[in-house]
Amino acid sequence: MKTREIALLGESVLRQIAQPIDDATNFAVRELAQTMLLTLEDSGGVGLAAPQIFESKRLIIVASKPTKRYPYAPEMPATVMVNPEFTPLTDTIEKDWEGCLSIPSIRALVPRYSSIRVCYTDLDGQQLDVDFQDFVARVFQHEYDHLNGLVYLDRVENNQDIISEKMFLTLIAGELN
Ligand SMILES: [Zn+2]
Repeated sequence: MKTREIALLGESVLRQIAQPIDDATNFAVRELAQTMLLTLEDSGGVGLAAPQIFESKRLIIVASKPTKRYPYAPEMPATVMVNPEFTPLTDTIEKDWEGCLSIPSIRALVPRYSSIRVCYTDLDGQQLDVDFQDFVARVFQHEYDHLNGLVYLDRVENNQDIISEKMFLTLIAGELN
């Protein structure tokens, strides 16, 4: 099992509506999830959607953990979600920084619901409900957008909310001191 190339912004697969997965317990789905987990680990990201490795299928991984880019991120086991859906639990929307493995060297402030209820199928075919807040809710909504052909830049309210990754790292280093 190997890692996969990440689709970069401009690839048409990132602009397609991904197809639902009929049987989450299918071996090919498990294999796809495994490849995505390896690719995510290799890239140091906190989430990945199947279209980002050129598979237009409704499968995402949410794997929040503290990293250089997100020092305050909560630690959670990498969670594979098949055919995920969500509903906001409140109307509260917050803006915070996001980046994307498919859009290197850029960061931007993106508005997202801060509290959501997520429904998905796991690789054993179980239907699960889980509530996410703040950073994890943000990662989920970012990955979910990839399944609908959207990237986070589509949600930026003002072009002035877009900065280089280098400036972003300077900014968070300042906040940590
Ligand atoms: Zn992304």
